[in-house]
Amino acid sequence: MIGITLLGSTGSIGVSTLDVVARHPERFRIVALTANRDAEGLAAQCRRHRPEYAVMADPAAAGELKRRLAGMAQPPEVLAGTDALASVAALPQVDYVMAAIVGAAGLLPTLAAARAGKRLLLANKEALVVAGSLLMRAVADTGAEILPIDSEHNAVFQCLPRDFSHGSGLDDLGVEWILLTASGGPFRGTPLEALAGVTPEEACAHPNWDMGRKISVDSATMMNKGLELIEACWLFDTRPERVRILVHPQSVIHSLVQYRDGSVLAQLGNPDMRTPIAHALAWPERIASGVGALDLLAVHRLDFRPADPERFPCLAFAYEAANQGGTCPIILNAANEVAVDAFLHRRIGFMDIPTVVGETLHRLPREGVEGWEVEQLLEADQRARRVAEQKLPQSVL
Ligand code: NAD
Ligand code: MG
Repeated sequence: MIGITLLGSTGSIGVSTLDVVARHPERFRIVALTANRDAEGLAAQCRRHRPEYAVMADPAAAGELKRRLAGMAQPPEVLAGTDALASVAALPQVDYVMAAIVGAAGLLPTLAAARAGKRLLLANKEALVVAGSLLMRAVADTGAEILPIDSEHNAVFQCLPRDFSHGSGLDDLGVEWILLTASGGPFRGTPLEALAGVTPEEACAHPNWDMGRKISVDSATMMNKGLELIEACWLFDTRPERVRILVHPQSVIHSLVQYRDGSVLAQLGNPDMRTPIAHALAWPERIASGVGALDLLAVHRLDFRPADPERFPCLAFAYEAANQGGTCPIILNAANEVAVDAFLHRRIGFMDIPTVVGETLHRLPREGVEGWEVEQLLEADQRARRVAEQKLPQSVL
């Protein structure tokens, strides 16, 4: 039996992961479930999946979870706080860790899993954006495996030779380009002058994917694709100029790899995260995911177009940060987290998001991060958050 810790189990990826895991009780068992504050949601998951540990990042919520589980036969051990998240990611009885916390908050437990040599199923792209070099080094040093959950990177991984591993070098494999597809989000056709007035509800209503609120807003600004560009550079050991972005509104082709001989390999499927989750859980085997067969006759047509830089200024900031490296991706991500949170709380408008990101990125100097430990990376993250807070427009909408 493969033991699994699921970081962020009450979220969109967490719920999809539990759905796949529950289809294969002979293969997987849940060792630990974790959430931020949703004690009610985590209690229901504990009754259904019977983990050994349940962790709430928020200590007050951990008290509530204990009360809710009081009547349960053999309840899980309830733990609280960030250290507990990291400790359940490194337990000896855990083989696989699904990193599905949203934002840089997921970095420490994700890093703990890599340092403990686990198979890391990585959804938490912000962890790689903030600490790519540390995470990839931990994976190499301990023999941990990293399998991408992000649908685009999972698709790229599936289109690379089976023996691909970090350090293979895309050139040696004959790869010319990685082509990341993007839906373009809910506002790909909205008149430019209307974008300033869109609401959080409109931004979170993604045309093809059902996701958490933060990544839904990132998809609407296309910062999500920018973070994915940086994620791809780390996962596939390449440079931003080898990664291209293609708007593909149907979200059926999840990404492509173009080889030197003119061959282009793509991975297709219905837009349902249970496919990449099942792929990474079973790799190199294949297991049922619950996702229905793709009906290409029903899809009918596949469209492609370039990303519009005027509509999606975040994309250019992400390329800039990816090219500059050092602390720039940390600053980009921190400013974006601050701005998206402010937008979701109706403190700023939608088009203020790229403004805050750009101003923060250009306000702070780039610093090299070679030899930095995680504490230094997180200090840079905190510095950028403070600057981004100051850049938030003060007018209340
Ligand atoms: P979500 O908001 O639905 O869920 C986030 C989870 O993290 C919840 O369980 C929440 O309790 C937990 N969490 C939030 N803040 C925390 C904190 N400070 N400390 C500890 N736990 C915390 O998010 P999601 O859509 O499931 O996305 C999770 C990650 O996966 C993100 O990094 C996202 O970019 C990535 N991802 C998501 C999708 C998708 O389809 N949802 C696709 C690709 C990648
Ligand atoms: Mg993605």
